[in-house]
Amino acid sequence: MKSKDSIDDDRRGNKNIYTCDICGCIIVTVDSDRGVTPMFLACKSTTNCRGTMTSAMYLVDPGLNPTWEWYRPDSIAKDDVAYNHVVRGGLLLREITDDKS
Ligand SMILES: [Zn+2]
Repeated sequence: MKSKDSIDDDRRGNKNIYTCDICGCIIVTVDSDRGVTPMFLACKSTTNCRGTMTSAMYLVDPGLNPTWEWYRPDSIAKDDVAYNHVVRGGLLLREITDDKS
């Protein structure tokens, strides 16, 4: 069994694309921390879209400009819906803002 910290999980800086099966929108993501990202996501692009976004498994153009990032929270409450995902090494997704200050 591989450890959670195995090198295979270290995709920091790697980009990925998720494509929605209903609206066809895509989002470009980047891994900011070491951890696990899901194969499927609820659609993030279109308000009220009930589609599922599917990972391109990191087989994307590395020159893409990511708009979302996968990150590991500093802490997470036990009653958070993402708690079990995060304690198993999962990363969370957030939109990248232009605020670099
Ligand atoms: Zn959609």
